[in-house]
Amino acid sequence: MYKPLGGKGKKAKKIKGNMEKGNDKYVQAPLGMKDLFPEERLLWVEMENAAREEFEIAGYHEIRTPVFEDTRLFVRSIGEATDIVEKEMYTFGDSAGTSITLRPENTASVMRAYLQYELYKTKKFQKFYYIGPMFRKERPQAGRLRQFHQMGVEAIGSYDPLLDVETIKVATRVYDRLGLDGYVVKINTIGCEKCRPGYRDILKKELSNYKDELCELCKARLERNVFRVLDCKNKKCKEIRKNVSNTEDHTCKDCLEHFKIVKGAFEDIGLDYTVDPHLVRGLDYYTKTVYEITHSAMGARDTICAGGRYDNLISDIGGPPTGAVGFAAGMEASMIALLKVREKNKESKLDTSSLAPDIFIVSIGIESRNYCFKLLNQLRQGGIRVDMDYECRPTKAQMKIANKLNSRFTIIMGSEEREKGVIKLKNMQTGDENFSEDTDKIIEIVKGNR
Ligand code: ATP
Ligand code: MG
Repeated sequence: MYKPLGGKGKKAKKIKGNMEKGNDKYVQAPLGMKDLFPEERLLWVEMENAAREEFEIAGYHEIRTPVFEDTRLFVRSIGEATDIVEKEMYTFGDSAGTSITLRPENTASVMRAYLQYELYKTKKFQKFYYIGPMFRKERPQAGRLRQFHQMGVEAIGSYDPLLDVETIKVATRVYDRLGLDGYVVKINTIGCEKCRPGYRDILKKELSNYKDELCELCKARLERNVFRVLDCKNKKCKEIRKNVSNTEDHTCKDCLEHFKIVKGAFEDIGLDYTVDPHLVRGLDYYTKTVYEITHSAMGARDTICAGGRYDNLISDIGGPPTGAVGFAAGMEASMIALLKVREKNKESKLDTSSLAPDIFIVSIGIESRNYCFKLLNQLRQGGIRVDMDYECRPTKAQMKIANKLNSRFTIIMGSEEREKGVIKLKNMQTGDENFSEDTDKIIEIVKGNR
């Protein structure tokens, strides 16, 4: 069974136990890290291809930034009183004594690149996308990895509310292309630097009435970063937040107007959405529109994609005031939802046929091996996926391997075929056999049968 998030639950405990005891036979991957084998990779490629195509269709082009950055970048952008900066970053010093951090997310790095190369001078408006690994030292739990993957877009250099909707539409188009039905788009406005402080005070006052009932973390959040209370996954805290006033009721005229255009554009393009009046995000840099795409197949942590507008981020890290909006989709989370939907729809989860060779060459007798190797290379030259036995197995065992690999054709090469210079090609599905002295003819038959 394919497990996009292996290494959790019992298995994780066993690995952790082994590591702690130091008695494992082999060194194990650190907790929260996952290997990806060829079969699993197929689904990743499917998801990545769907994302790349949709991103490019919408005019977003790929940017690849380094996996680690100067720690100050994340502290300044994500915010000190956030889960990520407080406890989830992999931070260490390099030989020059600079504090560096494995990227916990990619928006800050993209903005850093935008500023470092002063793109605002040459091409202010830019649309980028990225796909890659992120690192967060999270408590091992279902669905959480320490190296996980995000795919996301960033539209930089504009305050246009239509872009908020464009980015969401791009995300839903990726999910539609993959056949992931059942997702829900939730949006909210969290105001700007003008109206947010006022709402913060109101929220603090209202939530103080429930202080004793809040979880321990939220009690502290009340003082440090009250918006985080709205983001808490604790059941009781979720109940309490229903009683506090909505962000929308306390945002300024500008923010309301922005939100109105956003909602209108949703209607124009026929994209369903719901307003979640208490939706906030776990990072400090958001302003105005925030959004999430959730999926019911996911349980309590149901967000598969999250984003919003961050008009102050670039100025916070030293650049000129620049509007920007984007999202990050959790790839493992999206994959879990997709697998569940496919399971429910009784669709096959993984099509592994692309891993099978076109031809497996079976050599009869050790003396045929070099001849087979030469033939294999001629066929590969013609673009055919060909393999042979490299374990010096007897003929029968080689046939078994050909079956196991689901090879579409086999070539059986013995002394007779070698002497006559004939190739015996067998179609493993129909049993049909073709004999030819010409490798080009073999290539033609195989290609014509794809
Ligand atoms: P959460 O409150 O779920 O931790 P977040 O605010 O930390 O969310 P974002 O930074 O907005 O998350 O990341 C967007 C998405 O990336 C999440 O909704 C989730 O699907 C995925 N994600 C975040 N952290 C992890 C992780 N440690 N392992 C797997 N996926 C993750
Ligand atoms: Mg988190």
